[in-house]
Amino acid sequence: MKESRYNISVIYNGEHLMFNSRTIATAALDRPALDILDTVRQGNEVKETDLVKEMKRVGFLVDDATDELQQLEMNYNLGKYEKSGLGLVIAPTMACNFACPYCFEGTQKGIMSKELQKKIISMASNFAKNGQNINITWFGGEPLLAKKTIYSMSEQLIEICLKENVDYEAGMVTNGYLLDEETVQKLREYKVTFIQITLDGLPKTHNQKRKLINNSGEPTFDRIVENILLVKSQGICTSIRINVDKETEGELEQLLELMMEKKLGENLYLGHVEANTDCSKECSENCLSAEEFARTYVNYEKLLFSKKMQTDYPAPTRINCGADYLYSFVIDAGGDMYKCLNDIGIKKNSIGNIEDLEDFSQLTQNPNRNYTKYMTWSPFDFKKCRECNILPICMGGCQYNGREAGEPICESWKYEIEEYIKLKCDAFG
Ligand code: SF4
Ligand code: SF4
Repeated sequence: MKESRYNISVIYNGEHLMFNSRTIATAALDRPALDILDTVRQGNEVKETDLVKEMKRVGFLVDDATDELQQLEMNYNLGKYEKSGLGLVIAPTMACNFACPYCFEGTQKGIMSKELQKKIISMASNFAKNGQNINITWFGGEPLLAKKTIYSMSEQLIEICLKENVDYEAGMVTNGYLLDEETVQKLREYKVTFIQITLDGLPKTHNQKRKLINNSGEPTFDRIVENILLVKSQGICTSIRINVDKETEGELEQLLELMMEKKLGENLYLGHVEANTDCSKECSENCLSAEEFARTYVNYEKLLFSKKMQTDYPAPTRINCGADYLYSFVIDAGGDMYKCLNDIGIKKNSIGNIEDLEDFSQLTQNPNRNYTKYMTWSPFDFKKCRECNILPICMGGCQYNGREAGEPICESWKYEIEEYIKLKCDAFG
């Protein structure tokens, strides 16, 4: 028997807390448990008592024959090459009704052509016929500028999935401005069960940043929040991303209180505006570093805790995001395909154009290097990740950022994991 390489110990209020990042088990260890740990740390055998069995069950101890790192790597690769479904992020238009300073999108006009729509549907139906589930995220530009396209494609995709008896799931990333009662009902009808909307701080800051493209000067915050309430009232799961930078980090408490008054406090989550991804050069000076964001994040969690609200806690992750999956593609309005959301609209990063394909599987038969670089990137190739005690909950982070930086960029947990463990301890009394 040996100790798990993913144990993290913290002394807090005189207690020996133990967290395991592979199982996310957290416990205060008593003297007998600490003695067992001491024994195995010295390389000595322990008897298989009930306590030892329990410590093994929660992952604090593992068999000598277990190589946790190899198990993780195997699981990571199985996840990457999982073929049970097709995940498509579809931008039916790259146009946008907003002109946000950090956004590179929205300059292209036009809606996806009928031919391209047909092609996507026919290629998705090949997957459905093969028993593979279909998961769609409507994206943009602003997807609601192409409502009719979304409705028409959804109708056909749902029909195919029903016929082939496979699951259909859909979500949407929208700025929320164009939502209204009729649209929300239609989205429900077309099985959009999840909507993500972004706010940029308190009303004043948000209205300065998230301006309409028509330069009308009309504020957008109140209307977006009203629309979020509408979406929520219709039972669609809503997540409100709060863009955090140097300007908005000081507004989080007030913003949380404002949203709590509207019963939306539980729907907020913090998004890191990053200099090398979401940001134009002009706004990069306003971005928080990974460490700064981690601190802001943990302080926000403490704030939630002080308000008796649900706090976040790390969860084991098989792979980091959709871009890592073999059959997960981002498709822009002109049919160019990508692996990562950050690449959308950047032609040189495309993995191919849908017009040149008969089937998505063709992409994997002769993948171009933009595709292979996503599929072959692995946190297990980096010493710092192989040796990292939070690898199971980070998995090397966002590979786009990692590649840009030349090495994986650590998730917030890396900097503040001990604070989270203490918070968890407080939450459970
Ligand atoms: S690789 Fe990074 S930026 Fe790209 S979709 Fe994944 S998490 Fe987002
Ligand atoms: S990116 Fe950082 S936190 Fe994530 S696994 Fe690698 S070393 Fe650990």
